[in-house]
Amino acid sequence: MKLPLFHHLVTLLFPEVCAACGQLLFKTEKTVCLSCQHLLPLTGYEHIPDNPVARIFWGRVHLEAATACYFFSKRGKVQQLVHELKYKKNREAGHFLGVETGKTIRQTDWGKQIDQIIPVPLHPKKQRIRGYNQSEVLAYGIREATGIAVVTNNLVRTVASETQTKKSREARWENVKDIFRLQQPEDIEGKHVLLVDDVITTGSTIEACVHTLQQAPNARISVVAAACAPA
Ligand SMILES: [Zn+2]
Repeated sequence: MKLPLFHHLVTLLFPEVCAACGQLLFKTEKTVCLSCQHLLPLTGYEHIPDNPVARIFWGRVHLEAATACYFFSKRGKVQQLVHELKYKKNREAGHFLGVETGKTIRQTDWGKQIDQIIPVPLHPKKQRIRGYNQSEVLAYGIREATGIAVVTNNLVRTVASETQTKKSREARWENVKDIFRLQQPEDIEGKHVLLVDDVITTGSTIEACVHTLQQAPNARISVVAAACAPA
């Protein structure tokens, strides 16, 4: 009896709010209110092989498929959710995004062929500060929707990279190309791996990860992010 009463008091004192709009949630709602859920801008890219996310990687790395679940816009709801995940320690927002991302790919032919999910690794120092890797949170959400295993200890980050935001594409690439390492290449040999990131922009970090993953013989790679900028 003690726990439910305590829980009741906690929800009275700290009512749950929508991670996208900040409005109070109904008891039947979780993390994101129904109204926001209907308004979030899905890309539909998972069904389009030559979509704008896939095109980012053309001529750079070979991918089986590449997609992002939602469009990211300045001050939009998706930006708010990603912000909650990355800077407000709101893992629930990330879990929601991961589950929704997983739902979009589990219906596709390529999505059904995936053997394991690998989140883009965060530098351990950065992970200590944040408390978790946001891509890993997304990956576990995708696992919930698809049942595909998540592997976090094979692809690892070796050195810290400087902040990415103010660099040109070339400078970013110089910055990221040698920073990932595959601990057990044999673990993904001949497998189809889904690489998971939060937001796809230039694709440089993903490109570096894919190069590293492709050190494993016959590894096939697909890429998914929770969000991308509208093309
Ligand atoms: Zn809302």
